[in-house]
Amino acid sequence: MREVKLFINGEMKTSEKSFITTNPANGEPVAKVYLPSEKDIDLAVDAAEAAFQSPEWRNMDQNRRAEILEFIAEKLKERRNELTELEVADSGSSLRKAKADISNASSYFKVLAGQLRKFQFEVKDESASRAGFSTNYKVYEPVGVCAQIIPWNFPLVMAAWKIGPVIASGCTTVLKSAQETPVTAGILAEIINDSGLPKGVVNIVTGGAAEGEYLLKNPKVRKVAFTGSTEVGRKIMQAAGKNLQKLSLELGGKSANIVLDDADLSIAIDGALYAFLYHSGQACDSGTRLFVEQKIYPEFRDALVKRIADVKVGIPSDPATGYGPVINERQATRIMNYIETTKKEGGKLLFGGTKLTNGELAKGHYIAPTLFEVTPDQTIFNEEIFGPVLAITPVKDENEAIKLANKSIYGLAGAVWSKNPERARKVARQLETGTVWINEYHLLNPGMPFGGYKQSGLGREMGEEGLKSYLEVKHLWVSDCDERSKKPWFDAIF
Ligand code: NAD
Repeated sequence: MREVKLFINGEMKTSEKSFITTNPANGEPVAKVYLPSEKDIDLAVDAAEAAFQSPEWRNMDQNRRAEILEFIAEKLKERRNELTELEVADSGSSLRKAKADISNASSYFKVLAGQLRKFQFEVKDESASRAGFSTNYKVYEPVGVCAQIIPWNFPLVMAAWKIGPVIASGCTTVLKSAQETPVTAGILAEIINDSGLPKGVVNIVTGGAAEGEYLLKNPKVRKVAFTGSTEVGRKIMQAAGKNLQKLSLELGGKSANIVLDDADLSIAIDGALYAFLYHSGQACDSGTRLFVEQKIYPEFRDALVKRIADVKVGIPSDPATGYGPVINERQATRIMNYIETTKKEGGKLLFGGTKLTNGELAKGHYIAPTLFEVTPDQTIFNEEIFGPVLAITPVKDENEAIKLANKSIYGLAGAVWSKNPERARKVARQLETGTVWINEYHLLNPGMPFGGYKQSGLGREMGEEGLKSYLEVKHLWVSDCDERSKKPWFDAIF
């Protein structure tokens, strides 16, 4: 069986404790995975600290770092078949989603390399500088040792979004993958080990809450980058407070999808289904609240119910599958509880609402695509479910849609569907959320920032903002007052 080892200081290590990760589609073993002890985690942080202080890494030219990112991009591409197969087995991703994930992870490293080559780590600020008085520079420097923690839903992509900016910025890291899906991060470790990156710059272990908590406690960690639930995000923020570590949080969402009465309905209907069903609804930016203008609501609702029956739920390795199982029994139970709560609260079930157990599906945890018509006071309007469940609410006009869309503790993403670009942009600008698509959903651009307003997070990943979140900025003041008489402010103390 494949083994996923600890990647610490450029070495693949075993440990005393291990577990078998299983396929969510059928419970079959995928790999033997080694769990780090507290001592292993300390060693990983020590390796990251030593690498951060090493002249080899500190002085590495940005073009050389870009070459390393390009090498990783290339190797991910070369090993895409193996990675796809493992991502499907380990996470229950459909084949098509897993293929897209590997390709997206690879292109992220590539785009980042391009960005890095152009990035100016020292910038003279013309407006702040004054001839004969001072020349003022902004100097961008790596924050230091990072602790990075990722969720189980997009395992390789999440690892890429974390490790990429570490290499680009000159930081170092200990990344903890999710215990549910640790396998492809193990392959990324192998690729990184062959990339020419100095040992200890990137260290990768796995584990659950205990390992994550222990990692964050280490005083050598200067920045914490966490992706996961808002609930755990609050704990992370508290933990980071102890040593005032820099913090990036990418958290949950309850994103609004707004269909205006002038939308192209055939696109908007497929878009609304894609928005909440992609990866069984286990995407942080899922469009799980759908607002449809009253004028078109009956027609839209009926067409949506008809079209949803075409979605193919099946085993993930089947190329025809639209979406597969949810990650585990705990997640399935959580989703089914939300479905029961919604029924009890008077939500109108329009489609689905059951587990799917036909044939092979009985071996995993599959949930039918589920549509509820709800009012804003109901639980599923407000809480993230992380499953294939949509809450639909008719609205009288766009103002009501905006008001209800913003009635959420979250603000991660959202979309507006309309044939009138100006009208759509006007609505989009009023949404309190980090990404808004117009007539689109889920697509991300590695050159653009991604992250949340409100309780969906702090800071941004990707784009220039993502890179800068791994950099400190130093104001370098070079005095042009080269005679004592030109410095009358010194006289304040004489
Ligand atoms: P989770 O919050 O339960 O766990 C995330 C990670 O944190 C895992 O690696 C877990 O082992 C670790 N962890 C748990 N408790 C911890 C603690 N006390 N201290 C340190 N580490 C701890 O989330 P999940 O169930 O793995 O993933 C689903 C959630 O992630 C959803 O809420 C989803 O919206 C969110 N998510 C957000 C984004 C984004 O970019 N905003 C992307 C993907 C997923």
